[in-house]
Amino acid sequence: MSAARLAELIAERQPCVVLTGAGISTESGIPDFRSPTGIWAEVDPFEVASIQAFRRDPERVWGFYRARIGLLRDAQPNAGHRAIAALEERGLVSAVVTQNIDTLHSRAGSREVVEVHGSIRSAVCLACHFTEDADAVLVQLETEPVPLCRHCGEALKPGVTMFGELLPAGAMERATELARRARLVLVVGSTLEVWPVAGLPLEARAFAIVNRGPTALDDQALLKVAGSAGETLSAVVEALDTA
Ligand code: NAD
Repeated sequence: MSAARLAELIAERQPCVVLTGAGISTESGIPDFRSPTGIWAEVDPFEVASIQAFRRDPERVWGFYRARIGLLRDAQPNAGHRAIAALEERGLVSAVVTQNIDTLHSRAGSREVVEVHGSIRSAVCLACHFTEDADAVLVQLETEPVPLCRHCGEALKPGVTMFGELLPAGAMERATELARRARLVLVVGSTLEVWPVAGLPLEARAFAIVNRGPTALDDQALLKVAGSAGETLSAVVEALDTA
């Protein structure tokens, strides 16, 4: 019933932009952050995912990311990612703004993807700004605890936004522009607790949420579906295809 209502909203309120968080990828076997079984239940984010931690102890940060990049590269897109790509294919979703670094939207076939927290595709040198491809980084990590910039020899940093860092240049501007133009932002799998991305739904004329747990903006949403992303979004595509 709620999937059917969501399908109606998407059809009525064009353009629609999707905003995703870690919850869209849990069905691909990637834990989210703030659930009881999430990553932050095991490790302190400020010890492994902040720019201060990277400057203090890059080896510890790379220990965390080496395992994480391996997990994310092995993961496959799930029904939720595929449904969002199918909605774009049908002209019903104009873009996906994602907080995820796992590249699963692109691998599912989504074409307009704005990665507001960067991705695991690359690592960057904070000294000379050289960008290194993830494959080359992983080769270095087989023998070194910290990958080094091939130009200046400084430690490379994972190409993801860490706590305490600014978001990638241009990505947030593009995401804000998309949200302002949208007549519906569809939030999927995010607690909407990390700013500035959590403010994007408020830039749109209206927003709907698909999330298993509560979010910071539930009371302002046009519709909240408290279901799984894969099941709900597959039902939405089916409802639109049979409408
Ligand atoms: P989150 O863990 O805060 O929220 C995920 C939400 O998805 C939860 O409410 C959960 O109940 C829900 N959920 C889980 N599986 C679901 C499913 N199958 N279907 C529907 N809902 C499901 O994740 P978030 O909102 O993405 O966190 C914000 C962002 O913070 C992250 O995406 C991340 O980019 C960023 N962040 C990055 C770092 C870093 O490593 N540099 C550190 C912390 C946060």
